[in-house]
Amino acid sequence: MILLNPGPVTISERVRQALLRPDLCHREPEFTALQQSIRTQLLGVYGLPLDHWAAVLLTGSGTAAVEAMMSTLIKDTDSVLILENGLYGERLTAIAGIHGLHHLRLHHAWDRGIDLDAVRACLDQNRRFHYVALVHHETTTGRLNSIAELAEICKARGVHLLVDGVSSFGAEHLDFTRWNIAACAATANKCLHGVPGVSFVIVQRKLLPFADQPPRSLYLDLRQYCEAQDAGSTPYTQTVQGFYALDEALSELEEEGGWSARQRRYREHLTRIREGLAAVGIRPLLPAAAYSVVLNSFHLPEGMEYLTLHD
Ligand SMILES: *Cc1c(COP(=O)(O)O)cnc(C)c1O
Repeated sequence: MILLNPGPVTISERVRQALLRPDLCHREPEFTALQQSIRTQLLGVYGLPLDHWAAVLLTGSGTAAVEAMMSTLIKDTDSVLILENGLYGERLTAIAGIHGLHHLRLHHAWDRGIDLDAVRACLDQNRRFHYVALVHHETTTGRLNSIAELAEICKARGVHLLVDGVSSFGAEHLDFTRWNIAACAATANKCLHGVPGVSFVIVQRKLLPFADQPPRSLYLDLRQYCEAQDAGSTPYTQTVQGFYALDEALSELEEEGGWSARQRRYREHLTRIREGLAAVGIRPLLPAAAYSVVLNSFHLPEGMEYLTLHD
C-alpha cells in the first residue's frame, strides 16, 4: 500500500519492523534509553546543541504539539502576532482563542504569501509583541513561508518565532538560531517517516518558563514533560510502539544523509510529478518558487470532480 496523501506517509519496511519490538512499559530503563535516543536524534536533525535546546516528546498528533507550544510558552503577560495564510495558520488563532492568549491575527487569503510590510506595521504599533507565530510549510496550499526575511524583521524588534513545522521538519531548511526561533512543533509521521501518535516541540530551554505561572493545561504542559524527560521519566504513558518507529525512522534519516538528502529526494520526485502534470495541461495553484518540496497543489483537470480523481 502506498499512501498518496500529505500525511501520514508510507513507512519503510524497516520502520514497520520496529513496531514489532517486544512490549515495554514506559516505567522501565529501556524506555528511558529509547526516549533519550529520540530526543538526542531530533536535536541532531538540525545540529542543535543539547544544552540550549530541548526536544519534548508528546503522545498525540501534530496539533497536540502545536497547542502545547502555544499554551505553554505564551504567558498571560505576552502577546502573539499570528500569521495566517491557510488552514493551519487559522488553527493557531483557534488555539490562541481557546486558551485566552493575547493575540492579533494577520489574515491572508490562502493563495497569498506573507505580507512583510503588514507584519512590520503590526509589530510597530503600540502593542508590544513577544512572539510571532506562523506555519513554516502551509500544507493547505504547499506554500513554504519563507522565514529568513521575516525573522530579520522580528529579531530587530526582539520578537521570537513560534513555528508550526509539522510538515517541514526533516525535509526543509530550518535555521533555528539565525531565525530567532523560540520553539518549533512537529510530528513523527510526516517528513520524518514515523507513524502517527508521536509529536514533539523543539524549544529553547531558557524560554521554558519553569514555575513562572500556573499551567493552562494538565496534559499539554510542556514544562512538566520537559522536567520529567530530563529526569529520564515521563509524566504519562507514551506510545511505546510509536517511539520505536520514530527512533528507527530517525536512524534511517541520518543514514540517508539527513534533512538535505531528504529534501533532494523529494525535489527529484516533485520535478517528475510537476513535469508529468504540466505535460497533460494540469496547472499549479501557486508560482513554482513559492512551493515546498513536500507538497504542491494543482488545479483539477478541466471537467473533473475531485472524487473521480481520488478514486
Ligand atoms: C499535519 C499538520 C498539522 C497537524 O495535524 P494533525 O492531524 O494534528 O497531525 C499541523 N500543521 C501543519 C502545517 C500540518 O501539515
